Amino acid sequence: MTHKILILPGDGIGPEIVAEAAKVLECLRQEHGLDATLDYGLLGGCAVDTLGSPYPDETRRQARAADAILLGAVGGPKWERMDRPLRPERGLLAIRADLELFANLRPALLYPQLADASALKPERVAGLDLLIVRELNGDIYFGQPRGIRTLESGEREGFNTMRYRESEIERIARVGFEAARKRHRKLCSVDKANVLEASELWREVVERVAKDYPDVALSHLYVDNAAMQLVRAPKQFDVMVTGNLFGDILSDCAAMLTGSIGMLPSASLDANGKGLYEPIHGSAPDIAGRGAANPLATILSAAMLLRYTLNAPELAERIELAVGRVLDQGLRTLDIMAAGMTPVGTQAMGDAVVASL
Ligand code: NAD
Repeated sequence: MTHKILILPGDGIGPEIVAEAAKVLECLRQEHGLDATLDYGLLGGCAVDTLGSPYPDETRRQARAADAILLGAVGGPKWERMDRPLRPERGLLAIRADLELFANLRPALLYPQLADASALKPERVAGLDLLIVRELNGDIYFGQPRGIRTLESGEREGFNTMRYRESEIERIARVGFEAARKRHRKLCSVDKANVLEASELWREVVERVAKDYPDVALSHLYVDNAAMQLVRAPKQFDVMVTGNLFGDILSDCAAMLTGSIGMLPSASLDANGKGLYEPIHGSAPDIAGRGAANPLATILSAAMLLRYTLNAPELAERIELAVGRVLDQGLRTLDIMAAGMTPVGTQAMGDAVVASL
């Protein structure tokens, strides 16, 4: 079956970095048996400029028809003061909601060659390879009731509601177990079951789902301990699964362990494995148009797309090994360069990955 990949370059450095990932996919198509078509669409500020909406109907049609989507990044100062519905970030939220992307996968992988970029001691993080699976559509971010009310005393009170239904916990737990099966078969579920009823249910449901995955070793951590362990000994983890709020915080913490925002990919998946793949960084307006951006996070997002949606782990690994070899050769963009090195540009980095494939 020919897979349909939709590419949404977006704004700022988006078009520059996506062009390099597209080169990589094109090379896999021509030389390594990838059976896919590449189509292009508009999302974010560029879509506002051209079609008057950050997630236009045409893009919605393309996104629904695609098997997988590769996104650069959206946003920038040009659109910051527009009415809220016209802001580029609204396009991102709209496409995630429209496609019911409920599972966010954020790997934190530190290539040994870049161990010095981390704020932690190199021996703590060299070779780090963990995956955080975060639930994206539920929890306190969406729970009702919520608001700010005035009490009888006249004092104001802000309130939110943490909620998780069994079905929501079960489907994200399954994503966690399945991901662990594709890696080192260790899953750590993170909650706050000692204090929160929503977490108590979370733990109970995760235990129940675990019976279907006897080949995966399951452990549990309270979120405060998980944060501490991430900084103390992050290499103990393979896959972590957690709710929206805890995952938001822990995944940023894990990203910083690697030291470079320009290296980290991510995926947001629906119940059938369809996904939106994007680097974790934004549109970097400060360096846009200069050919200085690191395209590796986007290229590694394409690798995730191959692994998780197209079920082609051997092609994904081919890309990841190629990136490793390029780093071995000493090639560095500005953001991952150590003192005394000469940086390469976006295109040169993409070309080197293609050559290494
Ligand atoms: P940012 O991630 O764009 O940039 C933060 C810093 O990291 C900047 O100094 C930038 O130059 C650098 N950087 C980011 N990606 C890089 C890369 N690939 N190579 C080299 N350096 C890189 O975050 P920001 O500055 O807070 O946001 C800029 C715009 O991006 C805003 O409009 C924001 O809303 C948007 N944004 C979009 C997304 C997304 O599309 N998913 C995510 C975050 C921010």
